[in-house]
Amino acid sequence: MSIATVNPATGRTLRTFEALTDAQLEQRVAAAASAATLWRATPLGERLAVVRRAGQLLDERQDEYGRLMAEEMGKTIGAGRGEAAKCAVTCAYYADNGPDILAPEKVESSGEWLGEVRFQPLGVVLAVMPWNFPFWQVIRFAAPALVAGNVALLKHASNVPQCALALETLFRDAGAPDGVFQALLIGAERVSALLDDPRIAAATLTGSEPAGRAIGEAAGRNIKKTVLELGGSDAFVVLPSANIAQAAATAVRARVVNAGQSCIAAKRFIVHDDVHDEFTAAFVAGMAALRVGDPMDESTDVGPLATERILDDLDRQVKASVAAGARVLTGGSRLDRAGNFYPPTVLADVPESAPAYSEELFGPVAALLRARDIGHAIAIANATTFGLGASAWTSDDAEAERCADELEAGSVFINAMVASDPRYPFGGIRNSGHGRELSAYGLREFVNVKTVRRRR
Ligand code: NAP
Repeated sequence: MSIATVNPATGRTLRTFEALTDAQLEQRVAAAASAATLWRATPLGERLAVVRRAGQLLDERQDEYGRLMAEEMGKTIGAGRGEAAKCAVTCAYYADNGPDILAPEKVESSGEWLGEVRFQPLGVVLAVMPWNFPFWQVIRFAAPALVAGNVALLKHASNVPQCALALETLFRDAGAPDGVFQALLIGAERVSALLDDPRIAAATLTGSEPAGRAIGEAAGRNIKKTVLELGGSDAFVVLPSANIAQAAATAVRARVVNAGQSCIAAKRFIVHDDVHDEFTAAFVAGMAALRVGDPMDESTDVGPLATERILDDLDRQVKASVAAGARVLTGGSRLDRAGNFYPPTVLADVPESAPAYSEELFGPVAALLRARDIGHAIAIANATTFGLGASAWTSDDAEAERCADELEAGSVFINAMVASDPRYPFGGIRNSGHGRELSAYGLREFVNVKTVRRRR
């Protein structure tokens, strides 16, 4: 099992780590179980202070963490700093709002009855996390989980071990007692056995559909709660009344965010016939003008893909889509240079049989699809096994309302790209997973929603 930092911009292995032995893993699970007992009894104010302090440290360490992300998974340095800053905002959000979200809810009862609903921690939560937003994905789980009184075991993606260890150090520096937040350097093949361990109460995964099935099965067999945040093939619907220049400029950003390796990146661009050519010209020009290069260079728009496997998969999907009849309007083949670089690519006339039509494209490749009218556009947008986010562009109120109502996804954004925000719930339907992160909904995923009724 390889747990290593391989710089995706150069292909060089910078550091390798030994996976935990069985005895070391057992020690960490035991430490988490003891910490869970203490942490749930720790006054809420002290738990909030740890999360608030973690947020302050994230803010102070933006540059350090940005560099780490660039080195391990190729995120551009500015985006990495921004990720750390967003994590800081989210810690502050939960430190500020935790008390209200966790406050017992009084229930109107008649006669001699008093009643309320309390929110109590479940215990040790196993978090299996991806490399694409290596700080954000972890913090958006950990901040609410720790505020609620749970403790965390993080099994991070095997290509970001230094980010995993930096997060463990972050929480220790923020004052979390031993065992409250630990990173486990282990491979994916050891997750299922962990879910069989009675000391682990629940699991959260952000990752691919196959990982979701594996963790869902293991948790199901053990009757354990899960939150699954899986892939997406988000639609970006453009209707004739939209501001086309703005839609096209946003479409470029929505497709290449994080070099296209985002679950909520727009992947299928469904454009009404009347504005198809106008939108396509502006979109292709925007994609072709992006600077691909070294993620440490402040002027780079699109860095390398995180691993060689992702590059190979994307290259295969594009080649198969072209073989099925899609036309390349810009980009279309890997760059002839060291590192995992793929150019921003637009595919037009993508047939239903092409991988670009139905599969998630985890890189800077856009599929353009045509729609006859709004009903047709919504039907294409919904014709996917995923259901994470969707963006629709229109200046017509009735069309906006119809899109908000009929697009089948965990979030719908009108005249904006899909983005996460700690104040709003985030998650998907269908094969994009279940459960929600962020906002009050996210905090209440890993709690015992306890009914307490007392007769006077
Ligand atoms: P991945 O292979 O599923 O890896 C994600 C995590 O799951 C890693 O820690 C990985 O460990 C682990 N894992 C993989 N297979 C597993 C298994 N069978 N059992 C237990 N753990 C397993 O995902 P990826 O392809 O690297 O990441 C990208 C995917 O995540 C995309 O599909 C993307 O859309 C999705 N994503 C979703 C969201 C969301 O919020 N919905 C956000 C970001 C990304 P190893 O690294 O050791 O294999």
